[in-house]
Amino acid sequence: MHDPHVLIIGGGTGGLFTGALLAKEGFRVTVLEKNREAGGGLQCFERYGETFETGMHTLGGFEAGGSLDRICRYLGIRERLRLRADDCLASIRYLSDDCQYRLPKGRAAFADYLCGLFPAEAPGIRAYVDELYRLADEVDLFYLRESGDAIPSHSEQFLWAADRLIAHFAADPKLRDVLAFLNPLYSGQAGHSPAYLHALINVLYIDGPCRFVDGSRQLANALADVIRSAGGTVDTANGATAIEMADREVTGVRSADGQTHRADVYISAVHPCTLLRLLPPEAFTRAYRQRLESIPDTYSAFTVFAVLRPGCFPYLDHTCYYQDQYGLAWRHGEAPGPRWPRGFMYFTPPVSGQDPYARKLIVNCVMPFSEVAQWAGTHVPGRRGPAYEAWKQARLEQVLERMETLHPGFGRYVAHAFAASPLTIRDYYATRAGALFGYRKDCTQPALSYLPVRTKVRNLLLTGQNVNLHGICGVPLTAITTAEALTGRNHILRKLNQSGNEPAHIC
Ligand SMILES: Cc1cc2nc3c(=O)[nH]c(=O)nc-3n(C[C@H](O)[C@H](O)[C@H](O)COP(=O)(O)OP(=O)(O)OC[C@H]3O[C@@H](n4cnc5c(N)ncnc54)[C@H](O)[C@@H]3O)c2cc1C
Repeated sequence: MHDPHVLIIGGGTGGLFTGALLAKEGFRVTVLEKNREAGGGLQCFERYGETFETGMHTLGGFEAGGSLDRICRYLGIRERLRLRADDCLASIRYLSDDCQYRLPKGRAAFADYLCGLFPAEAPGIRAYVDELYRLADEVDLFYLRESGDAIPSHSEQFLWAADRLIAHFAADPKLRDVLAFLNPLYSGQAGHSPAYLHALINVLYIDGPCRFVDGSRQLANALADVIRSAGGTVDTANGATAIEMADREVTGVRSADGQTHRADVYISAVHPCTLLRLLPPEAFTRAYRQRLESIPDTYSAFTVFAVLRPGCFPYLDHTCYYQDQYGLAWRHGEAPGPRWPRGFMYFTPPVSGQDPYARKLIVNCVMPFSEVAQWAGTHVPGRRGPAYEAWKQARLEQVLERMETLHPGFGRYVAHAFAASPLTIRDYYATRAGALFGYRKDCTQPALSYLPVRTKVRNLLLTGQNVNLHGICGVPLTAITTAEALTGRNHILRKLNQSGNEPAHIC
């Protein structure tokens, strides 16, 4: 009997975590990745002598005993990761009253800080924080607990809209806005984003935000090494071009180099709409195809990367958020108006031997894909035409102007600045409409965006951010669910919980 062979399409965060978990279980894993470097959201690139992360900048779950800490220890890669803990949860500055909130990390400190600022709201704030943790506790997988029920039951609040949850506990409009500040990390939309999603993201970061030292590709490389050291392959610059099927089963995957790869099981770790383009039309029923096409996506982003002159701009030990005024927290996804940008997040990625000054800075501004729709037919970076380049340069300058307002003199510290648009995200990750986090979760239609890891094609599974949750909060957890579809329910969780590794520490 040969080791079962699994072929994974997409060597991003989800494909690599799923591949590493299965490699550890004795599966022979082949990962096909279209880009020259594996990692997807974990991938980095070099420009002007600096390494920049493409996605996955702000991490959670790596504190001792956190979900990511435990998964990485289980995979034997935790000690390889160089992480730096943030000094607080985040800071948020509002230009309208020039007020800056410096939210501490830790459940009690977070609640105490807000109670101190809004004493009249103290009982509601404490009840709200308790509710966040109660909602997070409803998700067994978030705490890597084995789960008994295939379809778990949840409280009514679980599927409230996140803005309703906040409004239930907080009356002050300023407080309501501050409590929604992490919206850009889950594409928050009033009336649509579920309370559980808001709770999971908040709890993850309240418990301990951190970031990679020298870039996120170290995690991609460590996961790829787990696959390779078990005899598997991570094949880069060799994307899947077509999936062959017979009798409602996948029989092979053709790749860019002209080869056909055959395996026992196939896992798609790409956006489901990208998967649809690889499959013959008859693979799924028309209704299922239409469903996959009709699930709305999360919003996209415009990112500015800056190389800073040495010894000028301080290293920021946390993520900074800014908004023009209160009340914008739920409006980030709107089409840009004349005063764009009205809010964004920025941070200075740490390097080895980080000194008090930053070497680089990244600004992420939420942006809907409609902003670049007129150039949607272009697919080669650098060859999208002069009108696009002029638009991009103008947006870049608007972001730098706002940084100048936030940090007078900032322009003088910038040696080089360049930008990526929603088109960059779309073409780089092959994600529809440059969606930051794939499919959008919607509490008004919870069943629509719920995708099981199993598909109607018997030997084709799904993994990645479109199934379940996105980001570092969710993709590694879905990888466990996908891997357990092959190993047996709770099999990996049980082993992970019994492995009893000593917690590692973040420097
Ligand atoms: C700008 C940006 C900032 C972000 N910041 C954060 C953050 O701070 N914290 C956080 O937790 N999350 C963040 N995220 C989200 C996080 O990066 C994603 O949720 C996560 O990487 C998704 O994992 P995935 O495996 O589903 O997709 P990806 O990591 O995108 O991987 C998909 C992979 O499939 C490959 N692929 C596509 N088509 C094919 C094909 N035909 N054949 C082979 N390979 C193919 C792609 O090249 C890619 O490598 C950010 C995302 C973006 C875009």
